[in-house]
Amino acid sequence: MSTPQQAFDELKKLSKELTLVRSIDAVLGWERETYMPPKGEALRADQSAYLSGLHHRLFTQPRFGDLLAEVEASELMNDPDVAVNVREWRHAYDRAVKVPTELVEETTHTAVMAHSAWVEARKKIDFSVFQPHLAKLIDLTRRKAEYIGYEENIYDALLDEYEPGETTANVARLFRNLRAGLVPLVQAIAESPVRPRTEVVHREYAVDRQRVFAEAASAALGFDYLGGRLDTVTHPFASRFGPGDVRITTRWNPRFFNEAFFGVLHESGHGLYEQNLPAEHFGTPLGESVSLGIHESQSRLWENFVGRGRAFWRHFFPRARQIFPRVLDDVTMDEFYFAVNAVEPSFIRVEADEVTYNLHIMLRFEIEQAIIAGELDVADIPGAWNEMFEGFFGIKVPDDSQGCLQDVHWSFAGFGYFSTYALGNLYAAQFYARAKEDVPDLEERIALGDFAPLLHWLSEHIYSQGMRYRSRQLVERVTGQAPSHEPLMAYLHAKFGELYQL
Ligand code: ZN
Repeated sequence: MSTPQQAFDELKKLSKELTLVRSIDAVLGWERETYMPPKGEALRADQSAYLSGLHHRLFTQPRFGDLLAEVEASELMNDPDVAVNVREWRHAYDRAVKVPTELVEETTHTAVMAHSAWVEARKKIDFSVFQPHLAKLIDLTRRKAEYIGYEENIYDALLDEYEPGETTANVARLFRNLRAGLVPLVQAIAESPVRPRTEVVHREYAVDRQRVFAEAASAALGFDYLGGRLDTVTHPFASRFGPGDVRITTRWNPRFFNEAFFGVLHESGHGLYEQNLPAEHFGTPLGESVSLGIHESQSRLWENFVGRGRAFWRHFFPRARQIFPRVLDDVTMDEFYFAVNAVEPSFIRVEADEVTYNLHIMLRFEIEQAIIAGELDVADIPGAWNEMFEGFFGIKVPDDSQGCLQDVHWSFAGFGYFSTYALGNLYAAQFYARAKEDVPDLEERIALGDFAPLLHWLSEHIYSQGMRYRSRQLVERVTGQAPSHEPLMAYLHAKFGELYQL
C-alpha cells in the first residue's frame, strides 16, 4: 500500500521520464531538419518511432491510471498545484488509452503514405493523387474521435487535442463575428487609393546582414542566445528541449526582407514563451505551455503587435539603414513601416498579412467541420474550397496547389489544428491591449528599444503559469474578458485605418 503522496511522487517521476523521452525526440527532430545528411533518414525514422513507442508504453501502462485514481480520491487534490497536474495528466492519459494502439499505428502508417501522396499531388497539381489517402485519414480520424468521445459535435474531440477544453460552437461563434468585421475591412482596404511602396522590401538584402539584424532584434526582445540558437531550415519552427535549451529556425530570402525577419520574430515569440516557463516545474504540466492557441498568441504578439508596430520601427529603422546601407537610402521610416504592413488578398495562407490571415483559417475550419461531419465528400473539397475562397477574398483560385493542396496539415491528419492559428491572433490582441493598459508607457519603451516591461508582463501573467489555466480561463483571468473578436478588430481598424486612410 502506498500513501497518496507516494502515488503523486511516482506520477511526477513517470511524468518527468515521459517529458525526457519527448525532449530527446525533439533533439532528433530538430537535428533532422537542420544538419542530418540525407542518407540518415531511415535510421532517424527508426529512432523516432522507437521513442514514440517507448513514450506510448510508459504512458498507457495501467500503473499510471492506478496512481492517478489514487491521488484523485485523496485530499492532496486540495493543493492547487497537485490539482492542475492531475487534471492535465488525466486529460492526456484518457486520450491516450481510449484510442486502440492498432488505430494509432494505422493512422501513423497511413499518414506516411499520405504525406508522399500530398507532395506528389501538389507537384503535379492533381488533387486525385491525394484524394484516396485523405479519404482514409478522414475515416481514421472519425473513428479516433468516436473513441475519444464528445458531448455535442464530433469535431470537439479533434479541437480538444490542440486547444484543450475549447468547443466547436465557441470557435464558430468567434469566427462568425470576426468574419463579419473582416470582410468589409478587406473590401475598404482594396478600394483605398493609398498604396504602400512594397518594392522596398523586395530589394537585395544580403543574407549575412539579415542574420545579424534578425538576431540582434530577437535578442533585444529578450530571446536568450545562451539558452537557445537560431538555425536555417526549409520549414521554420521553434522547439523546446527543456529549460536552458530552446531552438528557433528560419529560412533566408535574399530578395524579400519580411520572410526571415518576421519569421525570426515569430519563432522568437514561441521561444520566449518556452524560455520563460517555470523551470522548477519541468517534467510536469505546470512547467508546460497551455495550448497551441496560446502558443501562437505569443508568436503573433511579438511578430505583429510588436514587430510590425510603428514604435518598433522607430527604434529599429535607423539600425536597418546602418546594416543595409544604400538599400534603404531613399526610404523613409513611414514608407518602410507601411511596406511591411501591406494588405493584399493572396492565395497562400503562410504569406497572408494580418488582416486577411484569419479568413484563410475560417475557410479551413468550415471545410474541416463539413468533412468530419460527413456533409462534404472528399472529392468535392476542391470545388467547395474555391467557391468559399472567392466569397471571402473576391479572387478566383487558379489551381489546387494554391488552393486546397497548399497546407501539410491534412496529410498528417491534423484536423482541428488550423483554428489555433486564428485563436492565437484573437488572444494576442486581447493580451496586448491589456498589457498596454497595465503598462501605460509600453510603446514609448518599445520605441526606445526597451522590451523588458512587456516581457515581464507576459512572464508574470502567462509564461510563469504553465498549464495552470486552460486557454479560455487564462484569457479571462488576464484580460477580464472572455475570448472575443473585438480587441483584434479594434486593433486592425486603428492600425490599417490610419495606414490606408480609411
Ligand atoms: Zn507559430
